[in-house]
Parts: sequence; C-alpha cells; structure tokens
Amino acid sequence: MRCILCDRSKKGDVQFFVCEDCKKFSETIDIIWADVNEKFDTMDTIDPDIDPIFRLLSDSVFITSHNPQVAIFYKMSTVFVECAFKSITSITEEELNRKLRTIRSLTDALKVFEELGLIRVELDKYQRVIILNDKIKKVALSIQGEDRLDEQLIKRISQSFAGYVLLYLLYRMSKIREIDEIYELPYKQKFRTLWVILMFLWTKAFEGNESFQEKDLSKFLSQRRIPTASILPTLLNVDPRRLTGILRDVRMQGSDRIYYFSEYMLREMERLREVERERVETR
Ligand SMILES: [Zn+2]
Repeated sequence: MRCILCDRSKKGDVQFFVCEDCKKFSETIDIIWADVNEKFDTMDTIDPDIDPIFRLLSDSVFITSHNPQVAIFYKMSTVFVECAFKSITSITEEELNRKLRTIRSLTDALKVFEELGLIRVELDKYQRVIILNDKIKKVALSIQGEDRLDEQLIKRISQSFAGYVLLYLLYRMSKIREIDEIYELPYKQKFRTLWVILMFLWTKAFEGNESFQEKDLSKFLSQRRIPTASILPTLLNVDPRRLTGILRDVRMQGSDRIYYFSEYMLREMERLREVERERVETR
C-alpha cells in the first residue's frame, strides 16, 4: 500500500493509506496554521524581522522556492506585494501574465489567493482584473514612509506572503484522507516535494531536536522517492550573514554531515508546542 500524501510504500491489504509521519505532520500544520492565521488577522505588519513565525515561513519558502509546483505561488506573491508598495491597487490578468512569464493557467493560483482573502478577481469587459484586498495593502501601508524601505524589505515581506500561501497549501493537503480528494487541490495535484521536505525539517525541530544527520534526511527522502540532490545544495548554503536560514551551522561527523537548526526556529517551535499544550488543557 502507498501513502496518499507522501508516497511511502508499506506492505498491506489496501492500496492506499496515510502514514504515521504524515498524520503527525498534519497535526503540527494545524497548530502553525491556527497561530499564523490569528496573527495575520490582528497584526499590522508581517515583517519577518518583527515576528519569528513569519521568518520561519519566509525561510521555508527559501528552501522550496525552486520547486516548479510551487514557483507560481511565490512569483505571484512578489508581484502583488510590489504592487501594494507602489500603491497600485489592481492589475489586469494580461499585466500579471507578463510579469510572471509562465505558461501555466493562473486560474487555480488566483483562486488560492482569493480563498485567503488577499485579492479578489473581477471581470472587466475582456479580461480578469485582480484587485488587492486590505490584507496586503495594510502591510505595505504600515511600512511605507519608513526610511528603511528598500528592495530587501520588499523581498522579505513578499516571502512572508508566499510563506502564508505555502502554509495554506500544506494545510489543504493535511486534510486529505482519500485518494480522490487530491483532485480538489489547486492544479489537481499534491505538493509532494514541498510536503516531504518540510515534514522532515519542521517535525525534527517541533520535536525539540537541535540538529539532524544528513543520512537520516537522505533515508527519509529516498523512502519517498525524492532525490536528495533536490534539497541538499540549498541546505548546504548555510551562511550566518544571510537573513534567511532555518539552519545555523553544518559540521562533519565522520563521513556524515550534521545540520543545526537556528536558535529562533527552535524557540518558535517550543512556543508552538506550549500553545498547543495550553489549548489541550483548557479544552
Ligand atoms: Zn505519508
């Protein structure tokens, strides 16, 4: 039998199942989703410099942004945030298409941004027009006028928005328990590479592990038929001067590499565990 979400195979009587790792990860996503959504609705800004949960999302985008399945969501976030900063409140589909330079249909991606309340789509005479909602505009407004407004900041904010979208895709996936439900996901496909890579990294940190071994990661990925080469170059790019990075260090131990999580990542995961504990106690 094969796991519906991560493709891990196991001997068994039925064709499909959901593996224990995926079930556990689904619970972790629930906790993070609840936390991030609450902040998104109440905070004026989602600058990853100010709130570490947005830094975590933004850093996770950095690790997975090369993945073609999710690239369109990242590119779209950047275009919308850039518009907001320039006080442009709407963009036609044609303009958007030109900026994205993609041959993929935008319909499913636009629907995701709509579901999150970030935009709304209206029909002009000839084409669709995308209108930015307050959720994006208020973030731009809260930062505009500050002297530190620069390319780097815009990049960080759009990565946070992309991270929010990414988390939503994971959240949608985490609710799937039957094979047919995959067709209800955007582009009728699961975001398997994204899911598996973040399942490994987030779960390790959420369980309080300060570090992990490269051979564990390789095993985890190969059990799910994902080549290690698809992620290692990004992970190895650990530079403390970089703003992004859920990892702070990598060291050799014998013939294996050990990766260390950034302090903020471990603190943030500990806080989320605490939030969950309190929630269970008051239930
Ligand atoms: Zn699984």
